[in-house]
Amino acid sequence: MLAAVTRSPGEMAIEDVSGPGRARAGYVIVRPEAVGICGSDFHLFSGDVGALSGARDFYPRIQGHEVAAVVEDAGDARGLREGDRVAIWPLLPCGHCYPCRTGRPNVCIRFRLVGVHLDGGLAERLEVPAGLVFAVGDLDPDCASFVEPASVAVHALARGRLTAGEQVVVFGAGPIGLATLVAAVDQGARVLSVDPLASRRELAKRLGAEVVTWVPEPELTDQVHDWTKSEGPPLVIETSGEAAVLPQAAELVAAAGRVVVVGMSSGTAPVRPGAFPEKEIDVIGSSCATADDFRAAIKLIAANRAAVTALFSHHFPLARAPEAFEFAMSRPPDAIKIVVTVN
Ligand SMILES: [Zn+2]
Ligand SMILES: [Zn+2]
Repeated sequence: MLAAVTRSPGEMAIEDVSGPGRARAGYVIVRPEAVGICGSDFHLFSGDVGALSGARDFYPRIQGHEVAAVVEDAGDARGLREGDRVAIWPLLPCGHCYPCRTGRPNVCIRFRLVGVHLDGGLAERLEVPAGLVFAVGDLDPDCASFVEPASVAVHALARGRLTAGEQVVVFGAGPIGLATLVAAVDQGARVLSVDPLASRRELAKRLGAEVVTWVPEPELTDQVHDWTKSEGPPLVIETSGEAAVLPQAAELVAAAGRVVVVGMSSGTAPVRPGAFPEKEIDVIGSSCATADDFRAAIKLIAANRAAVTALFSHHFPLARAPEAFEFAMSRPPDAIKIVVTVN
């Protein structure tokens, strides 16, 4: 079968490799159709594996963790049939560590990820543990590939305890920020979206943001306080990965409010810890998603297909996957979600 193989840092090649045979007990064989490229793919691709836990041998690896596929061999899996369109929850938790024991497998300290520690979707066929395979009904392949990033947004809002009618400030209007916007609007929230790129702000507006903005402080605080009648928003979600947003969010958020940090940043920024007790705010981290979030994301996308479809800016066939990675890593301003079309 054809696969895009990351041979070593920075080196991806299209190769003819031996694919999986019949499904072994506990596994399902699928034919990937669409695979979203995500910022986290670049770490493994460029050899920056220090942040990833659990495996020594990353290369060669078939990447791709935002996978839409069709079931080819359901093996002994219950509830799945040949021909079903599915999305893959890419996370394999250990089941024993403290987060696993307390129902939070998404932050398992020994987790393994499809497309990182196990081969992923950039291949004509893929063997996956049956428990990671979720039927998505009649979602199209692009929409099904977006279930994974959408589940990250669903999890962030669950962590932030969003309730209907609340005003939410979302920093960042990339794929995760926009998915957070769509999920928040779907839950009856009102959203103000902050992003430096005009094209992303326009898209945020089209997807239901009440206000979109990009102004420096102190204007941003003034604008947000006007919008919230001086109280500040009860919920702020940071998806931009900019370290400076956390101190800003801690000042912006309403007293008794919540700040959820989803964006990964390696930078630092000085925070005024006094804001935490002064306003008794909750500052909450959010990582990946649970299986329940994944199920909720399937429903979210099914109910918001047009909005989600607006996020797919570029498509590349599998044979051009290396070029798709190069293109995505150059961070073109008009790109939102770049998808590799496989079968
Ligand atoms: Zn991703
Ligand atoms: Zn664990």
